[in-house]
Amino acid sequence: MPKKDKMQPLQLYRYLPRSNCKKCGVPSCLAFAFGLISREKKPEDCPDMLKDEYRPSLDLLKEYFGEGAQVEKTGLLIDKDKCTGCGDCVIACQKCQGTIMFGTGTILPRDVPDVYKIVDGIVDVKHWESCKRCADRPEMCRVCEERCPTGALELVK
Ligand code: SF4
Ligand code: SF4
Ligand code: SF4
Repeated sequence: MPKKDKMQPLQLYRYLPRSNCKKCGVPSCLAFAFGLISREKKPEDCPDMLKDEYRPSLDLLKEYFGEGAQVEKTGLLIDKDKCTGCGDCVIACQKCQGTIMFGTGTILPRDVPDVYKIVDGIVDVKHWESCKRCADRPEMCRVCEERCPTGALELVK
């Protein structure tokens, strides 16, 4: 199963009205594109996208972002339909979550429970607070996302 081809903000921007009217509550259509990626905005939050002329773009974006996705406190999105239960993310995270970089470049050990567990053949988040993204000095780690062979994991923040 291939990884999901991720659209970048400029690619998303091309599907938007590009009038920078601010009716969606952000200063520009490009800012709205970033909001789509972080799931803070939905395609239908742009009133102009509801016009007939933008219907094909709206349908495409709604299909791309899907419905009902859950953003965990770490900015993690899991598409459980894509998870094969291979456990690669569990092992990759165990290796990297056990240490954290200090400001001086020193690597410090951490004693924290595993973020992930495979339950009934599908990945589950057991301790989101162990993720390096939740540390006092957060690390914007994306090891699990990079390691997942099916694109089931996506870090959107
Ligand atoms: S409401 Fe739509 S057209 Fe206006 S700035 Fe937001 S995304 Fe762009
Ligand atoms: S981002 Fe890093 S620390 Fe957080 S769950 Fe993924 S691999 Fe683990
Ligand atoms: S989320 Fe990805 S890496 Fe983790 S068990 Fe599922 S398929 Fe494997």
